[in-house]
Amino acid sequence: MRMADCIFCKIIKGEIPSQKVYEDDKVYAFHDINPVAPTHILIVPKKHLAGVYELEEGDRELMGHIFYVARKIAEDLGFSPAQDPTRGYRLVVNSGSQAGQTVFHLHVHLLGGREMTWPPG
Ligand code: 5GP
Ligand code: ZN
Repeated sequence: MRMADCIFCKIIKGEIPSQKVYEDDKVYAFHDINPVAPTHILIVPKKHLAGVYELEEGDRELMGHIFYVARKIAEDLGFSPAQDPTRGYRLVVNSGSQAGQTVFHLHVHLLGGREMTWPPG
């Protein structure tokens, strides 16, 4: 897919409105339009990558940064077991359509605010 057609690239550029949670030079985070938990945030790199399967050597630091941002957002929301051992949150990266990926711009789901079960569906 061309970047010009990518819905998350359009959200990052502000061409499609979103409820922003966090932004810096490398990352944008916003509320999912169809939440599957009381809190459902998407954390995306500003750089267009279809998924984890397109990551290159030079993207290692970017992915580490995304997970650090996830940690910070979860703490701001009070979900962190580092703050309260009874709390928790789930980070999910669907990779490919068989795994449930529907938007082909890499994103980390941050889910919180309810009990989670395992295995996922
Ligand atoms: P995936 O299934 O690819 O892992 O996750 C894509 C997510 O993007 C879904 O949870 C879906 O609800 C969300 N989504 C799709 N289109 C939009 C949109 O236009 N705005 C927002 N905020 N979320 C979207
Ligand atoms: Zn994109």
